[in-house]
Amino acid sequence: GRAWHLVARPHGVPVPEDFALREIPVTEPGPGRILVRNLHLSVDPYMRGRMNDVKSYVPPFRLDAPMDGGAVGEVVASEADGFAVGDHVLHGLGWREYAVVKAEHATKVDPAVAPLTAYLGVLGMPGLTAYAGLLEVASFQEGDAVFVSGAAGAVGSLVGQIARLKGASRVIGSAGSDEKVRALTEEYGFDAAFNYKNGPVGEQLKEAAPDGIDVYFDNVGGEHLEAAISSLRVHGRVAVCGMISQYNATEPSPAPRNLAQVIGKRLRIQGMLVSDHQALQPRFVEEVGGWIRSGDLHHPETVVHGIDHAVDAFLGMLRGENTGKMIVSLDG
Ligand code: NDP
Repeated sequence: GRAWHLVARPHGVPVPEDFALREIPVTEPGPGRILVRNLHLSVDPYMRGRMNDVKSYVPPFRLDAPMDGGAVGEVVASEADGFAVGDHVLHGLGWREYAVVKAEHATKVDPAVAPLTAYLGVLGMPGLTAYAGLLEVASFQEGDAVFVSGAAGAVGSLVGQIARLKGASRVIGSAGSDEKVRALTEEYGFDAAFNYKNGPVGEQLKEAAPDGIDVYFDNVGGEHLEAAISSLRVHGRVAVCGMISQYNATEPSPAPRNLAQVIGKRLRIQGMLVSDHQALQPRFVEEVGGWIRSGDLHHPETVVHGIDHAVDAFLGMLRGENTGKMIVSLDG
């Protein structure tokens, strides 16, 4: 089977030459392991950080080794109790066609309950990030006005909709194209949205939220965070989920320059990692699963087909080519 390898550490924006698709042997699973044929791969912003050789909360990818990441696939051979050929599993050895996975690192998923791609998106890591970030980290309360950046992405599109379903007074989103902005207000129920490429974020946010905001869910950082600090009301909260505007940066961002407002407004700015919120998983699956079944929660996906195009999908996601979760499907 083929697997994508990192062959050079990107400087700034990654380029296709930083990656190579190479053949790796498909081995029989040893005791306690399963052989999985991957059906859908996840490409995620945090993977950009793993391409740098720096210590972080996830170790860097090794050079000339297969990359890893979220994937769902079908068990084709099993030497593990509780897993049978034909079962579907979620696991962490993506970026490749076949994976030998330890049983304790695989979670069975049911394609009759939700499409398999949902376990990489709305019912998976990005979904829990949105749910936990809004409800636990940002301490969302009914009546709050909520602003989310990266609002047409996997996490952001769910944050805005969950806020609306939970009784937000106003939901505002920003995204990088007029088409995404249209979808936010016309399809996903946002009250207001703007294209951050069309003008200063601070001015556009003030126009979209003239009475200010109580919660900012940050996926972007930089100028967006600065704008949010200016628009936050007293006792406002920020969940710092991501800062994608910085991931390819070669210089640190000067913004936010208005951090002193944190004092007078008694703001709380809190970083988060989804892995700290596993205890919320049962409530998350129940509540979000209910909204999916009732049709109240849209969970868009952008699907790129073929292992050959996995790097294109990753680079495209960094450029904003996705609406909702970016998925690579390995058809046939
Ligand atoms: P998305 O589906 O939102 O895809 C990334 C999006 O980022 C693109 O579609 C693009 O949309 C936007 N983007 C790219 N560059 C910029 C830029 N310079 N300024 C503003 N927007 C930009 O990804 P996810 O939903 O998976 O992740 C969203 C954020 O959440 C990321 O920052 C990620 O790192 C973070 N995250 C954090 C987790 C945690 O535990 N802390 C867990 C999961 C995700 P556009 O067209 O709008 O520019």
